[in-house]
Amino acid sequence: MSGTRAARNFVDGAWAEHDGALIDVVNPATGQVVAQVADTPAEEVDRAVRAAARAFAEWRFSNPTVRADLLHRLADEVAAREVELGRSVTVEMGKPLGEARGEVRKLALALHFYAEEATRVRGSIVANTEEGFTSLVEHEPIGVVGAITPWNYPLELIGWKLGASVAAGCTIVVKPSEYTPTAGLLLMECVEAAGFPAGVVNLVTGAGATGAALTQHPVVDKIAFTGSGRTGAAIARSVPNVKPMSMELGGNCPLVVTANADVAAAVKGALRRAFRNAGQICIAINRAYVHDSVHDEFVAGLVAGAQQLVVADGLEQPDADVGPVTNQEILDRSLAHVRDAVDHGARVACGGEAPAGAGPGLFLSPTVLVDCDQEMLVMHAETFGPVLGVSRYSDLDDALQRANSTDAGLAAYAYTQDLGEAFTLRKRLDFGNVAVNNVDAGIINAPYGGRKGSGYGYEHAREGMDGYLQIKHTRLRHGA
Ligand code: ADP
Repeated sequence: MSGTRAARNFVDGAWAEHDGALIDVVNPATGQVVAQVADTPAEEVDRAVRAAARAFAEWRFSNPTVRADLLHRLADEVAAREVELGRSVTVEMGKPLGEARGEVRKLALALHFYAEEATRVRGSIVANTEEGFTSLVEHEPIGVVGAITPWNYPLELIGWKLGASVAAGCTIVVKPSEYTPTAGLLLMECVEAAGFPAGVVNLVTGAGATGAALTQHPVVDKIAFTGSGRTGAAIARSVPNVKPMSMELGGNCPLVVTANADVAAAVKGALRRAFRNAGQICIAINRAYVHDSVHDEFVAGLVAGAQQLVVADGLEQPDADVGPVTNQEILDRSLAHVRDAVDHGARVACGGEAPAGAGPGLFLSPTVLVDCDQEMLVMHAETFGPVLGVSRYSDLDDALQRANSTDAGLAAYAYTQDLGEAFTLRKRLDFGNVAVNNVDAGIINAPYGGRKGSGYGYEHAREGMDGYLQIKHTRLRHGA
């Protein structure tokens, strides 16, 4: 176990040693405890929030070029520690090292992106009805941000919030997932090395109670949450005073493959977006609606591709395709969704169990279920594991109706080479992100956010920063 240095928080620009209750961090590929981190009590959360509030008094007026320089420096620190940061992600959440290093590189890009956005906050001058008056509209930072993040992208999901809020002139207290806290702690070493003023960026580890102490803290001005719908709703109910919130909640994302699709491309896209990160992505494809005329070809390609994916401990095999799922809850739910589908008439075309010789970890082979109908859990409840349900359709209206029929509104995918169909699908899919003939809707310079039960607010792009800014209108009488 390498965890003795992990039981600490980054508060007010310094490492605060913690000698209270600890939380075990477990490697899902081996079942071994790899670190112990602080189960931070409310008093320490309070200290972090107050440090962030003190720092905000100056940081809010800091020159945007200063913020930009610090964020660029942080991105460079992150890039320089790619292997170490990547390993920390692999050992605590399971994604193969190659993929984890990719997450670190994307984190560095996001930080560079927001470094540049810091200098591009603009206002406007608005016409007045009377001579001698000018209206100025400016964007000002909101204040102290309380950020709560999940375990599936332990670094990027902190980075989007940290980059956008700090660029906007806010200060931040992060509470990472209890499953993946050490990656966040390492990121704070990068923050320290980059030289941010004390209190601008803080991180406390802990579980739900630590998160609740942060989100319920009256001095927090804005809550940025990514996680389950259940926890998001609990937070929204519990905040003591009115404050802005952004909620990136679960998905349950459909893929529509029409009669006019390039089937090989659709198979490739489905394999990537259903099984990458072991399906533990809010924008993972959970359910596919495939036209009768291409259904069998699609399923044959999908099954052949899924069976070729290498499932392994991603530290030992850094280029494996699929690691273990991160915790028992995910494995149990994935298997429950498979069982439910089979009980209601679906067939397991591949997967459905741990691969042979997988060892003690939480492994599940990429699983394809065919002959699914909308009542099955896999077709309407987020699995968040490597399971994909496939259903046929003969009429595009019916496929669209089923695709839109769940509470989820985060992302949807479609494959068609017919331009008219592409536009119909784009228009009628009721989701915040729609990818047509590709499966990578999430790019840093376009806004990313959900609708319906998938939450509200945006990350990425300029819109991601807008969530940390508030408008001030000044009407100035200066005389004609
Ligand atoms: P996931 O399983 O997708 O990570 P959760 O919603 O369980 O989703 O957890 C997301 C984050 O929310 C984690 O950092 C977790 O510790 C935190 N959390 C859990 N319960 C609460 C709560 N009541 N208030 C604030 N944060 C919470």
